[in-house]
Amino acid sequence: MRYAVISDIHANLHALQAVLDDARTQNIEGYICIGDIVGYNAYPVECLRIIRELNCTVVKGNHDHYCSSEDELIGFHPLAADVVHWTRDQLNEDDKQFLRDLPYTARIKTFTIVHSTLDMPEKWGYVFDELEAEANFTYQRTSLCFFGHTHVPLAFEKTMDIRCHLYENIKLSLGRKYFVNVGSVGQPRDGNHDAAYVVYDMKKSTIDLRRVPYDLAGAQQRIRDAGLPERLAARLEQGR
Ligand code: ZN
Repeated sequence: MRYAVISDIHANLHALQAVLDDARTQNIEGYICIGDIVGYNAYPVECLRIIRELNCTVVKGNHDHYCSSEDELIGFHPLAADVVHWTRDQLNEDDKQFLRDLPYTARIKTFTIVHSTLDMPEKWGYVFDELEAEANFTYQRTSLCFFGHTHVPLAFEKTMDIRCHLYENIKLSLGRKYFVNVGSVGQPRDGNHDAAYVVYDMKKSTIDLRRVPYDLAGAQQRIRDAGLPERLAARLEQGR
């Protein structure tokens, strides 16, 4: 089975379409979405429709949670908060209910997915280093778990200790645990503005990170047209 694993689309329709076009060249047999379909960019309705039509396993991200509830925005940068309020006005009740119903974690055959961390997925903790990955591994029952949330494609590998590295290709070894961030489709933050996603080949035990150029100017223009903060258009280009 070959999976395309996508995360943090953040309502960037141009990036999502480019990623799905690329995936069509990769003999993909299944799609998996690790959350944050909405927020930051200006096509929440369109991106939700595409993800729902893919009929894939989806887990909930923090933006999915806040855009589909009336909860007070805790831990949100003012820029992100502006977009949450805007997105709440765009989504209809059916879309909001779909987001509300998403689980925090899911198991697909022999691996797990979570937006943030397995130890307290509803607390939306960020995993950037070995220390932060340790609590997750305590709760990780499968040898492989994919995550998102940081928008940085880092892989954590646990043998006796935990090692962290940026990656392009990973060959999974038996007896180890892996906690792998698949990067972000719609707002990469590793300094590379191309959309990121992962192809996981279950049979070959390989994970390939793919970077896909897309119509950045189109995505930026729509942010401006919607009256969303200019800073959100600028950061897309910087990949930060
Ligand atoms: Zn995100």
